[in-house]
Amino acid sequence: MPLAAPTVTAVDTHCPYCALQCGMSLDGARVAPRDFPVNAGGLCQKGWTSGELLTSPSRLTTPLIRVDGELRPASWTEALDLVARRLTEIRAARGADAVAVFGGGGLTNEKAYLLGKFARVALGTSQIDYNGRFCMSSAAAAGIKAFGADRGMPFPVTDLADADAVLLIGANPAETMPPFTQHLRGADLIVVDPRRTPTAELAGLHLQPAPGTDLALAQGILHAVVADGLLDKSYVVSRTNGFEELWRSVAAWWPERVEQITGVSAADQRRVAAKLAAARNTYVLTARGTEQHANGTAMVNAWINLSLALGLPGSKGSGFGCLTGQGNGQGGREHGQKADQLPGYRKIDDPAAREYVAGVWGVPPESLPGPGRSAVELLEALGTEDGPSALMVFGSNLVVSAPGAGNIQDKVSSLDFLVVSDLVLSETAAMADVVLPVTQWAEEDGTMTNLEGRILLRRKAIDPPSGAKTDLYVLSELARRFGQPDGRFPTDAETVFTELRRASKGGVADYSGITYDRLRDGEALYWPVPAESHPGTPRMFLDSFAHPDGRARFVPVDHVGPAELPDAEFPLQATTGRVLQHYQSGAQTRLVKELNDVVAEAFVEVHPDTAARAGLAEGDLALVRSRRGETVARVRCVASLRPDLVFLPFHFPGEGRANLLTNPALDPASRMPEFKVCAVALAPAEVV
Ligand code: SF4
Repeated sequence: MPLAAPTVTAVDTHCPYCALQCGMSLDGARVAPRDFPVNAGGLCQKGWTSGELLTSPSRLTTPLIRVDGELRPASWTEALDLVARRLTEIRAARGADAVAVFGGGGLTNEKAYLLGKFARVALGTSQIDYNGRFCMSSAAAAGIKAFGADRGMPFPVTDLADADAVLLIGANPAETMPPFTQHLRGADLIVVDPRRTPTAELAGLHLQPAPGTDLALAQGILHAVVADGLLDKSYVVSRTNGFEELWRSVAAWWPERVEQITGVSAADQRRVAAKLAAARNTYVLTARGTEQHANGTAMVNAWINLSLALGLPGSKGSGFGCLTGQGNGQGGREHGQKADQLPGYRKIDDPAAREYVAGVWGVPPESLPGPGRSAVELLEALGTEDGPSALMVFGSNLVVSAPGAGNIQDKVSSLDFLVVSDLVLSETAAMADVVLPVTQWAEEDGTMTNLEGRILLRRKAIDPPSGAKTDLYVLSELARRFGQPDGRFPTDAETVFTELRRASKGGVADYSGITYDRLRDGEALYWPVPAESHPGTPRMFLDSFAHPDGRARFVPVDHVGPAELPDAEFPLQATTGRVLQHYQSGAQTRLVKELNDVVAEAFVEVHPDTAARAGLAEGDLALVRSRRGETVARVRCVASLRPDLVFLPFHFPGEGRANLLTNPALDPASRMPEFKVCAVALAPAEVV
């Protein structure tokens, strides 16, 4: 039976899913779109049906404890006491770093902040990271190198409405965030994607490079910009450093050579250069297709280099941006749940940052642990001799979403103790020793930072089911059991935000001037907001970049190709991504009937000739194998797909998990894994 929705009056809030954070109103569990700038009254199918999450019969309403191999209902006191006791035992036996914490890019700013503080102060562990490492960290690392700061889009989405030309690389917003595309209507749209996606269908020009070669493509277009006299010399001289060194790395990448590597014709490379240079208002936007590579940071920097050569970043009516994916992908990386960071986007190994944040937290700076392992490295270390043997997971379904998921599942199985805080029994929660049922988006107050760096108040619109508590309550109660003084871990979101403001003050992502009252009043506040009298910063870098000298950096990069290439045993390349109806690991959207009825099972897109060669036809079950595992998915023949490529969505559990195949090879700067390309083989699955 669905849970009954309590009667309340309509509340203005935001969608629970992606980083666009569309505005909506909730009347009980009934959703209506509202006129908010990023969505202008539009919602995608996920947003429209999101109210179903609030009444789902799959909702967890009581803590669960594993007894004799089975999860059994327990009281909150029993569950929290057990967590505190077991973690205390494990820490006593193996040290503070024996306990790891794994967060998520969908957690509110308050949760992300308190989770980082909980790990470092209450647990004293350095072993904390989050699933945003899987999806935005290369863009973040590249942005910091080039601009000195990382805000996905350093301008409002609505600025795109005045664009004459937009270059979208590895981004498929027509499927992942459909209302976004209304802002692209007036522009000459150029899409770079190995697949002919719904977004590519909207484009005037679609370039389909070989998977993993778009860095080379960026070099070719940049070469054409310079060789054809299209370089914005006055911008390069007045606002950047490093062009001469960059040119030494680009000069050897003339378009005809790039054509041989990417398959994109030299003529098309020159066409793109000419279109971008000729347009008055020009934007270059990247997303996961660019970032999820073992050289993803370099890939993003290659496109930033092109943008700088054209004089776009920090110019009125033009710019460079990255389309963040997860709901709080931006805020989630600013407040200290990353292994190497403290709140305010501060580096954890910076003595001044440690001293400042320790002062806010009321602890000695020397008590704060140093940097820990990044997400994949942390997961791969689970259960090893010097790795963590206990794991706390908040807002992540990592046995579906991590690369090489079979290996990660084995690691999680080997733990001495696993705690999962979630609203449903996700595939990861089902493996836990203790499951803590928590509230979701519309049942609690909290702030999110959308893909523009705008801070949004997501207000409580509905009472949670009795039995569910907030993540803030969980952290506060556990901290108390670990001997933390009363008040150090508040349960009220606004109180946590007030502390977060102080902790961020003076950092790159400065929230100190943002108050809940300003947000309640509907102010459009984009960070940095360094004072309550400050109006916020919708457009960054207009006067100067965030490096000390105020200038952007060209970052020389080189094409290296994917970490794993096809061979005789694995002759194809596989790439992964999302479909319109599902979000991330699908733990939420698979519960929504309207969504699941449309896409209910794993599938693999294959070119018809490739399918035929493998003995497969439309609708058959295929066995897709890589060096890390195999998955079973239903064949969809797609004539527009490159014959050397297959595509799998990553939303499905069990033997349909696309991430059983993916390669955990890491980018050296961001530690982001290579989800976007791995070598696979295709064969008919044996149907039992
Ligand atoms: Fe929600 Fe994103 Fe769809 Fe908007 S585009 S309704 S934020 S999932």
